Amino acid sequence: MKGKAAVFTSAGKPMEIVEYPLPKVEPGAMLVKVNRANVCGSDVHIIKGDFGWGGADQPRIIGHEMVGQVYEMGPGATSDSAGQPLKAGDRVTYCYFFPCGRCYACLHGQAHACPSTMARLGQTSAVPPHFIGAFAEYYYVQPNQYVYKVPDEVSDEMAAPANCALSQVFYGFHKIGIESGDVVVIQGAGGLGINAIAVAREMGAGTIIVVEQHPERIKLAKAFGADHIVDINEFPTPKERISRVRKLTQGRAADVVAELVGIPAAAREGIGMVRMGGRYLWIGNINGGKTVEIDPSAIILGNRTVVGVCTYEPWALYRVLDFLRRNRNKYPFESVLSQPFKLEEINTAFEMAAAGKVTRATIVP
Ligand SMILES: [Zn+2]
Ligand SMILES: [Zn+2]
Repeated sequence: MKGKAAVFTSAGKPMEIVEYPLPKVEPGAMLVKVNRANVCGSDVHIIKGDFGWGGADQPRIIGHEMVGQVYEMGPGATSDSAGQPLKAGDRVTYCYFFPCGRCYACLHGQAHACPSTMARLGQTSAVPPHFIGAFAEYYYVQPNQYVYKVPDEVSDEMAAPANCALSQVFYGFHKIGIESGDVVVIQGAGGLGINAIAVAREMGAGTIIVVEQHPERIKLAKAFGADHIVDINEFPTPKERISRVRKLTQGRAADVVAELVGIPAAAREGIGMVRMGGRYLWIGNINGGKTVEIDPSAIILGNRTVVGVCTYEPWALYRVLDFLRRNRNKYPFESVLSQPFKLEEINTAFEMAAAGKVTRATIVP
């Protein structure tokens, strides 16, 4: 038996469809048939070469936002990571990173900060188990990898981004701490920001202000329940946007501001929107080598807290699946339209995603 995969070798080179033999499923592992896999912003960065991945001798399967169904359970594998019984045919999603459980960060219960958590993500697909990324017909869940059953009420379309964008903001807001009635500013209403509106609200945010410029995203932000939009077209400078946020908050500025846009300059602006003693959550700027000037006294004299968060602790994904189940009719999760592409069309999907021509490209192998 073989399965198809889109294989990435070098930045700027199209991905190629390759067939690999299905791997032998070792004890505790699972082989999953992919139902759909979304093209995430970070995937686009990988193929552009921004993360330094690549090399003709190191073929890789990228992609990490996925939902699939169990095809084969390895010996001894009987449940998901929350203890729910699991069998062939059940739908699952997983944590795409691998906290080692054997380091100083893991020892301190900070799985999200494990230095080697991403190491296995970059492993080559040339050797078994081959299927180590989502852009393929199959995905190999390694022994001890966190995997969760998807509730029946949660569609594939809703579940596919759960292990990246939604879990990321869910855990980020957990770390920064949202309190009942907080004023929360969300910088950027892309995949992260739209989910952040629902999460912030359910965690108790009283007022949600979204900073955005694209009309279709503004529309979606309103549909998700944003109380105010600071439209960049209407307030073109950071200074104007900061004073707009102050005006909307009786001059105090926000309790919490979340950067979910990936533009370094957004940080300086965002910190300007945080009240004295408030909190700034930094999630979107994941590209190394970029800089922004910040006045440190704004943090110190203002008693402001700045927290950077990447990935999440594994419990967050489990809770996020339940969050989707409970709130599926309350927020229009399915109106974040996905445009489906076949595995063979993956390069077109990436071109369209990179050009911003689709809200979310999804590969349906
Ligand atoms: Zn992602
Ligand atoms: Zn570790």
